[in-house]
Amino acid sequence: MSKRSAEYWIAEVIARLKRRYRREMRTSLNHSNAWELLVATMLSAQAQDAQVNKVTPGLFRRYPDIESYVHLRPVQLYPYISSIGLFRSKAKNIIGSARYISEHFCGTVPNDMDSMLMLPGVGRKTANVVLANYFGKNYGIAVDTHCITVSMRLFRYRTKNAEVIERRLMRFVPQKEWGNVNHLFIALGRDTCKARRKECGRCALIDLCPSSDLRMKKR
Ligand code: SF4
Repeated sequence: MSKRSAEYWIAEVIARLKRRYRREMRTSLNHSNAWELLVATMLSAQAQDAQVNKVTPGLFRRYPDIESYVHLRPVQLYPYISSIGLFRSKAKNIIGSARYISEHFCGTVPNDMDSMLMLPGVGRKTANVVLANYFGKNYGIAVDTHCITVSMRLFRYRTKNAEVIERRLMRFVPQKEWGNVNHLFIALGRDTCKARRKECGRCALIDLCPSSDLRMKKR
């Protein structure tokens, strides 16, 4: 594919996904400030957003700001988040992040990638979610399991490594769309491009996708 056709192709893919999933172009994690979004995103690793949204109201009511976490022991968070997978390590990382932010960033969640990556338990995916959804900054593309499945089919990537996929997507997708691509691929992955069974017949990309049932049949 020439550079020009590749640009046209990705623009069309994004346009169609936006038409279909416009209402899903935002994080479904409930939050009212950057710290709450950071905590919710850390809790959402290998957990459903809906599950996280069930526990965060109680957690945020009991511990309303960063400073209220600084002197906690992880065990004090357990009653609020024990229904979430890996809650022990997540509790440790949330408290560690609160301390780091309090000590090094004057109690304010940082808004750049390098600083975010200094926080315990915060990797590029979590950082990208907070930077794009709260600060409106496109430093990269948050790549979760849905994005991996969709990217492997749509771009024929033969790797499941999130960081490799992110780097490739960043070369291909215009930067202004980096934040949107995460939401659009998640929506597509939940709707038709499911890991276990793809439903190409209902997919907005059926005639554009190299892995669609339509294309496969023609081979
Ligand atoms: S056409 Fe099929 S394989 Fe391609 S993105 Fe849609 S559901 Fe996934």
